Amino acid sequence: MKGIFEKIIDRELEADIVYEDGLAIAFKDINPVAPKHFLVIPKKKIRNIQTVSSNDSHLFTHLFTVIQKLAIQENMVEEGYRVITNIGEYGGQTVDYLHFHIIGGRTMRWPPG
Ligand code: AMP
Repeated sequence: MKGIFEKIIDRELEADIVYEDGLAIAFKDINPVAPKHFLVIPKKKIRNIQTVSSNDSHLFTHLFTVIQKLAIQENMVEEGYRVITNIGEYGGQTVDYLHFHIIGGRTMRWPPG
């Protein structure tokens, strides 16, 4: 059965898409924790970074270039931003599909909760 993010990729579920190319898509988080909160995901289904294989190295390099482009596009570079990926229960992963949170527009706190 298709998950939420697969439905967003296939346009079966509406999302505010801010970037897309052949390998990746980025959209606004539906429940933002900061003034700017985007999710970057690969179009290939990967559960989380624990299940990434070395065959995905090109895809991973690409995802980081997408993050860079998105940060430029959304005017986040000068002030800075945070990239987070949650893994499993203790990591706080609620959607079982690899995603990078790109969060900005305010000062971040450390340590995270
Ligand atoms: P995580 O808790 O790290 O697995 O993050 C999942 C994120 O997906 C949360 O920040 C949710 O707000 C977000 N989310 C869930 N459903 C949607 C949706 N339909 N559109 C956009 N973001 C979503």
